[in-house]
Amino acid sequence: MTELTHLSIADAAAKLDAGEFSAAELTDAHISAVEATRDLNAFITETPDRARDMAKASDERRSKKEPRGPLDGIPLAIKDLFCTEGVLSTAGSHILDGFTPQYESTVTTNLWDAGAVMLGKLNMDEFAMGSSNETSYYGPVKSPWKRPDGKDLVPGGSSGGSAATVSARVAMGATGTDTGGSIRQPAAFVGIVGFKPTYGRCSRWGIVAFASSLDQAGPMTRTVEDAAIMLGAMASHDPKDSTSVPRDVPDYRAAVGTGIKGLKVGIPAEYVVDGMPEEIGRIWDEGRKWLEAAGAECREISLPHTKYALPAYYIIAPAEASSNLARYDGVRYGLRVDGSDLTEMYEKTRAEGFGPEVQRRVMIGTYALSAGYYDAYYLKAQKVRTRIADDFRAAFAEVDTILTPTAPNAAFAVGEVLDPIQMYLNDVFTVPASLAGLPAISVPAGLNADGLPLGLHLIGRPFDEETVLRAAAALEDAAGFDAAPQYATGD
Ligand code: GLN
Repeated sequence: MTELTHLSIADAAAKLDAGEFSAAELTDAHISAVEATRDLNAFITETPDRARDMAKASDERRSKKEPRGPLDGIPLAIKDLFCTEGVLSTAGSHILDGFTPQYESTVTTNLWDAGAVMLGKLNMDEFAMGSSNETSYYGPVKSPWKRPDGKDLVPGGSSGGSAATVSARVAMGATGTDTGGSIRQPAAFVGIVGFKPTYGRCSRWGIVAFASSLDQAGPMTRTVEDAAIMLGAMASHDPKDSTSVPRDVPDYRAAVGTGIKGLKVGIPAEYVVDGMPEEIGRIWDEGRKWLEAAGAECREISLPHTKYALPAYYIIAPAEASSNLARYDGVRYGLRVDGSDLTEMYEKTRAEGFGPEVQRRVMIGTYALSAGYYDAYYLKAQKVRTRIADDFRAAFAEVDTILTPTAPNAAFAVGEVLDPIQMYLNDVFTVPASLAGLPAISVPAGLNADGLPLGLHLIGRPFDEETVLRAAAALEDAAGFDAAPQYATGD
């Protein structure tokens, strides 16, 4: 039943409550969609039996009128970076072959407590390193969108499986993680909403670590309201993550649709980058006009250290990754390749278990942290990070939110971007908010000349997710983006 898979979370929850269909029916429709779209390669593990059991339990709660969470009976899919008890969790890496955690991440625990149904685990760039989902050991994910030349497009990365699945109407929402843009850039590439909350808003416990000072979980959905609902369920204070913040989780959904009259919006001059296609500038202008028409005041602001964000990120993230990934030694997790002694076993395991992008990051990170280079690279990058956060602090004394494009280009074809530096440039607009730990959302804004989605990006003050959601809802209303990928229309 295609119609069921096209509903928003908000609508599906209301219809479940009204008894229009059961969670079992809703789940079956999504399981069929998972099966019908296998050539997207979006799932690493499908869990249909678990999904059916969870849906049945949800229907029982409804029929007994037991207390229900905001996602009761809603089918979601989970990025394979989240540890899920008893279900293979690979982080898209060969080195985690056969790793079946004995525990559940806090974010997914929260989702199941809210009644959500798990369809399976989603493909992703290896250890969340990438912008195109081409670094996965399990192969690239295909975007459900097509360009006129018919080439297979990337869904963005690293949450590429999440993006493809939600966009193709295979799951109603998915978890993503964002270290430098991995929720927002793929959301923009496939025309969905991706929301990275403030660092510390969602617990990192049970999420495979990439760069711990940057990693944040967040929702990927088809509407802003759905992102608010899902984030409300994902967020919590968690004593098991020392960087999780002990603050109450507001009613995010209530913020959606409350209007933006008088809201002050900053347009950062430094986000006009060399070689940016005209279509990106055009959609950015359009966004500014939409917000103004809804009652906001837009003004130019300056974030002077923006151009140092990407270089600083590509020191800090690999440095933290090289340290986090030291644990994969062939002893504790997954793959082991035997050698004649312990050192050779380590070497062979890591050489075979990590793909080229992960190896590149480990080498860059190890170099940047080594005695003699630590001050020149790592410490310097940390200082730059502080400057970037200061830029935002100063800007937020004047404005309530900042509007930028999400990515400097639309989705590209699989195999089209081969140079790692060119790939890293995809993060140019998303990385600064990550370095400063700020909440930021991508909202689908329109299509380019090739019929591919483009996203707009809003950045907010720390823990002011509500203002970001308010402004995002205004953009969503004005954009009226209702395009679905060719794949999901059923044509
Ligand atoms: N593309 C960026 C990187 O490769 C960001 C990845 C992410 O946010 N996980 O590091």
